[in-house]
Amino acid sequence: MKVVLASRNKNKIREIKEIYRNIVGEELDILSLDDIGYTDEIEEDGNSFEENSRIKASVPATLGYIGLADDSGLAVDALGGAPGIYSARYSGGGATDAKNNAKLLKNLEGVSDRAAKFVCVFSAVAPDGRFITVRGECPGIIAESESGKGGFGYDPLFIYQPLSKTFGELSSEEKNKVSHRARALSDLIPQLSECLKQYK
Ligand code: IMP
Repeated sequence: MKVVLASRNKNKIREIKEIYRNIVGEELDILSLDDIGYTDEIEEDGNSFEENSRIKASVPATLGYIGLADDSGLAVDALGGAPGIYSARYSGGGATDAKNNAKLLKNLEGVSDRAAKFVCVFSAVAPDGRFITVRGECPGIIAESESGKGGFGYDPLFIYQPLSKTFGELSSEEKNKVSHRARALSDLIPQLSECLKQYK
């Protein structure tokens, strides 16, 4: 049975394939929503990363595929966990990474507690309704200004303390060893490969 990632985010697809290769040593053959000709927008109206990832992964499952989806974001302690599930649209309509990062810095002006974490929840949903959900977290601190041009989103502001660098300064290989997505995927992948065997 084919696996379909309920996303059009090319960065994410690239990261997932890279992490899968690191863990399993094989290529993961995943299709995207575009590959299966699914053009509708999926409304992410859940109240948690778990709910949103399940909502998205259920879409390919209703079409007869193993649906796979992640929902991820940044949770900042001093902001009560914001931007959280609203990370992509933190700066409102027409949000961009640059505007989101600028808003984050503004909201943390004069704040000394800069602790934060990236969170990633993956769900896999089978056509018969069986599902797997896993959560990965990566702790860090929010910098005073952006550094590095790698990655995407909040990466240039997120200092990964064990390497004293922002995620934006890491190579994709370095980031993919420690990221929230890598941590969630390392839990998910063995379970997913078991699940795939059952549906062969
Ligand atoms: P979603 O998982 O597509 O809902 O995206 C959530 C948002 O969280 C993204 O648009 C980014 O702003 C942010 N985000 C999620 N993962 C990362 C990451 O690895 N680096 C930087 N920002 C991220």
